[in-house]
Amino acid sequence: MPATATATLPQIPPCDHRPRLYDGPSRDQVLAQRRANVNPAVFTYYREPLMIVEGHMQYLYDETGRRYLDLIAGIATVSCGHCHPKVTARVTEQVSRLQHATTIYLHPTLPRFAEKLLGKLPAELDTVYFVNSGSEAIDLAITMARLYTGQRDVIALRNAYHGGVATALGLTSHHTWKYPIPHGEGVHHAACPDPYRSPFSGTPEEIAEQSAEDIRELIRFSTCGQIAAYIAEPIQGVGGTTYGAANYLSHAYRIVREHGGLCISDEVQTGFGRTGDHYWGFESSDVVPDLVTMAKGIGGGFPLAAVATRREIAEPLAQRIHFNTFAGNPVSMAAGLAVMEVIDEDGLMENARVVGGHFKAGLERLAGKHSLVGVVRGQGLMLGVELVRDRETREPANTETLAVMEAAREMGVLLGKGGLYGNVLRIKPPMCLSREDADFAVEVLDQALSRAAE
Ligand code: PMP
Repeated sequence: MPATATATLPQIPPCDHRPRLYDGPSRDQVLAQRRANVNPAVFTYYREPLMIVEGHMQYLYDETGRRYLDLIAGIATVSCGHCHPKVTARVTEQVSRLQHATTIYLHPTLPRFAEKLLGKLPAELDTVYFVNSGSEAIDLAITMARLYTGQRDVIALRNAYHGGVATALGLTSHHTWKYPIPHGEGVHHAACPDPYRSPFSGTPEEIAEQSAEDIRELIRFSTCGQIAAYIAEPIQGVGGTTYGAANYLSHAYRIVREHGGLCISDEVQTGFGRTGDHYWGFESSDVVPDLVTMAKGIGGGFPLAAVATRREIAEPLAQRIHFNTFAGNPVSMAAGLAVMEVIDEDGLMENARVVGGHFKAGLERLAGKHSLVGVVRGQGLMLGVELVRDRETREPANTETLAVMEAAREMGVLLGKGGLYGNVLRIKPPMCLSREDADFAVEVLDQALSRAAE
């Protein structure tokens, strides 16, 4: 009998929230209806898709009332926890008062929220434009960089993900996300500085330096010598929690600026305290970007995104009419302001640092025990576990990754997946995760890794 069959099942930490009785259509009905009516590109996780009907902080409930530990948080989005009482109360109040009027009128929450947000950024980033999604934020940031510099070319990184609309799709660098349609006009992809699958060799710092120098080569060989922008995630999210050594970004920014380009930090996943040590991912590298794109965690689950920059960079946008119907709507503004308050009041950044560090140490213990684990990466509550069939060849263990996810789900833990080969377990829970939750997740992963290896 396999060892895991006799192991006792890990117990999810107690929680006194009682989910409401679900009396809607069955999971099978919902699945059939969705298959009949919805574009097949809208996919689900798991062999048997999971139906989720309620959320409470770091937990989700299916239609039977079963509770799961949510380690992916609506893809790194539900920053404060599902239905956090303060966020829910503020949004409910706003929904009942005014839902939409557009920015053609004044409303007090937008400038209040803008002031609060800019207060978390370096002083030179003094202007913000709110939009509805990460992809829109990326598109707007590239537009602003091109208008300001008068240049077209943009450098992004291999293994990056920046969204699904044409501009963002062009910047995205995974064949699995791309369609054979026009995109990526003027976009060039430089080497990803993460050492695990780098074409360069040496220490992580040497690989970071060579990767930054690749930007110079790309500018010299593929552009007119001047560029509009360079965009990078401080930690690549969809790419599988990949990043260069701490010397990478400052080196990259210097080269970009030598060629007239603006530096964009895509903080869609790394912002709002998720990395634990800092509010923004770029702060770990001691650089100041010219533009910062943000989404996901900023709204805690509401459609909200933003681009912050210097006023001089924003000004050329005002030379023509630029308008976004839902941008800055009072409901999203109320949500965003409440989310930022909760991150501070509940100490969520510090919690991400402490619980994230504890969680990572647990994952590293699993790496010592399971040869399927190639490497554990990440910072704060943005963690990744890359699974490989062979630690020498680093052959991606993609089917095993799916098996781990299925086994973890059976034991009550919901994980994400990423990386070009789909072999990285992604862990980005609501930032209210407790140490007990992390210990439970590590126990579950221990058993899931054993089952997947069998
Ligand atoms: N940038 C990054 C780093 C992202 O992870 C994502 C979404 N996964 C986006 C941009 C696009 O955001 P959205 O899905 O809200 O358009």
